[in-house]
Amino acid sequence: MKKLQFNQTTLHVVKGDITRCEVDAVVNAANESLLGGGGVDGAIHRAAGPELLAACRTLDGCRTGDAKLTPGFRLKAAHVIHTVGPVWRGGMHGEADLLASCYQKSLELAEAHGIRTLAFPAISTGIYGYPLEQATAIAVGTVLKYLENQPESDITEITFVCFDDATVYAYEQAFEEFERGTD
Ligand code: ADP
Repeated sequence: MKKLQFNQTTLHVVKGDITRCEVDAVVNAANESLLGGGGVDGAIHRAAGPELLAACRTLDGCRTGDAKLTPGFRLKAAHVIHTVGPVWRGGMHGEADLLASCYQKSLELAEAHGIRTLAFPAISTGIYGYPLEQATAIAVGTVLKYLENQPESDITEITFVCFDDATVYAYEQAFEEFERGTD
């Protein structure tokens, strides 16, 4: 599917199940307890096995907009970056900054741990109700801003993993928006 190249990093949009991704780290759209939940969080915990919950218990939760790292246990990914997206409450409660912070903190954590390939789900766009087009624009915009500010980044591949066609389409629109801006 669609790709976007920025310095040494390739951004991809793929449809699929993030628990099956062969990357150094998958990002989990967790909740503040880090003790598991529904959606992608539940799927990651099921695929990683009970050791993941045990590791998460030692982390003392995670604030909205922040990110924490664990091993990936039974996943193909060596690491899981747990980040907590905002619940959509109409858009006037700092949701955009908090969502951008999820991507920024996840990228910083990845960089600090030598992670080169990273897969993100569409954070906050499921149970947390964030409008899809706004969320994907923030995801792509924040990643590109990060790469612009980190020209020496060692991250080579960033994949936006989508569960449905509407999400794929929204990321493709966000890529095109960027490409139009650079013409
Ligand atoms: P949030 O609570 O942050 O909204 P959800 O897990 O409800 O998180 O949804 C976030 C996104 O992840 C949604 O687009 C949902 O369809 C998608 N999703 C759910 N399961 C998976 C999975 N196994 N792989 C990739 N994406 C998934």
